[in-house]
Amino acid sequence: MGGIFGTVSKGDCVTDLYFGIDYHSHLGTRRGGMAVYTENGFDRSIHSIENAQFRTKFEDAAARMHGHVGIGCISDTEPQPLIIRSRLGQFAITTVGRINNMEELADEAFEGGRTQFLEMSGNRINPTELVAALINQKSSIPEGIRHAQQKIDGSMTLLLATAEGIYAARDYLGRTPLILGEKWDGSLCVSFESHAYMNLGYHTLRELGPGEVVYLSQNGVQDILPPCEKKRVCTFLWTYYGYPTATYEGINVESSRYRCGALMAKKDAQDGLELDSVGGIPDSGLAAAIGYANESGVPFHRPFMKYTPTWSRSFMPQDQKMRNLVAHMKLIPVHDLIRDKKLLFIDDSIVRGTQLRETVDFLYESGAREVHVRPACPPILYGCKYINFSRSTSDMDLIARRVIVRLEGGVPSEERLALYKDASTQEYAAMVEEIREEMHFTSLKFPSLDMLVESIGLPECELCTYCWNGRE
Ligand code: SF4
Repeated sequence: MGGIFGTVSKGDCVTDLYFGIDYHSHLGTRRGGMAVYTENGFDRSIHSIENAQFRTKFEDAAARMHGHVGIGCISDTEPQPLIIRSRLGQFAITTVGRINNMEELADEAFEGGRTQFLEMSGNRINPTELVAALINQKSSIPEGIRHAQQKIDGSMTLLLATAEGIYAARDYLGRTPLILGEKWDGSLCVSFESHAYMNLGYHTLRELGPGEVVYLSQNGVQDILPPCEKKRVCTFLWTYYGYPTATYEGINVESSRYRCGALMAKKDAQDGLELDSVGGIPDSGLAAAIGYANESGVPFHRPFMKYTPTWSRSFMPQDQKMRNLVAHMKLIPVHDLIRDKKLLFIDDSIVRGTQLRETVDFLYESGAREVHVRPACPPILYGCKYINFSRSTSDMDLIARRVIVRLEGGVPSEERLALYKDASTQEYAAMVEEIREEMHFTSLKFPSLDMLVESIGLPECELCTYCWNGRE
């Protein structure tokens, strides 16, 4: 996914920028970057953060840079921010999103006869550079931003810094968030995550609406382009991506996970399930497990724990084998809480299922009598095509899809697939049972999409639910 942060301050902005970006570290693993407008123009620093934390890598840059305007990012993909010199002037730009029609947009840009792309890596155009090229096709930055928003198939939230201020633009359908903060001295910030500026002395001004564009300067916040009506906020922000302290659309992540756990406990209460404890797969399953335990009265336990002194990052290397190994090494069992126990675990979701199955096998090997599993969202049937969702690449990577192909004896038609989305059908029950068996769970029950939507509290029409029902 990735996260972005920017600040325009009355004094030097660099300390706030440095910590503000750092507070987005749970959103990406590959690269960090910051750009500050100094007395000599833009100064920029980009580093790999695959093996070291953002703060360690950017300590020197933060000490060197001085200025009033700065932006930066944690990126799971391309190196950024980029510094651009164009007919619209010099600017720095950073983005979070995904562009599905890169080739088509690049070809269109070439038609003008004056475009080239320099930031190639792995034979791919840098998406942030492509966004800059789209912006430069128009005669002003706001017009260019709207043009980019309308042309991009996927999603794009961006910050564009000039010498005097920052243009902040939320994705056209609001799939990813942007929120404004202000400090007592009039300094302003704009952030993907709402908690990123809390300890820096800012309070929340407001969240941007879908497609909305504002300009932050030492004179305050100026409305540039109004929000659009249609909204599709990524539901996975609450289920998986968001840090527990984050709030999107006024709804806190931790609280929504408690509600989701409580709804699952109410559903289970009808079955008279006997349990010794409820636990969560660290970290994103923990809050839903607390909600389940509080509602059911079954004690909340931590039968295994993450070794945080050295494995503090929530994401790990891009290579799947290495990620699985790291996931295993991170967790240490507490045998007293596992041996002969009937355990229920909540995970944020089941995507491929590989890691969860290894965890469950490890619980049995450690002496567990029963391992019941409750994912905190329905079976995922579609790979994300709107953000760079780190946990799925294609539909066929998804365990639910693999199981359906097995049950159907081949790739199902859309009509047949629809039966597996409906929790009242035999097909849905067969899919859940097949997943349960493959994963070695004692029992498996998914919440319905209605339960997930209820736990968040936004109208379903304002949420992106493509992962589960394929709704565009
Ligand atoms: S498809 Fe899923 S992960 Fe992607 S934006 Fe929609 S809810 Fe989020």
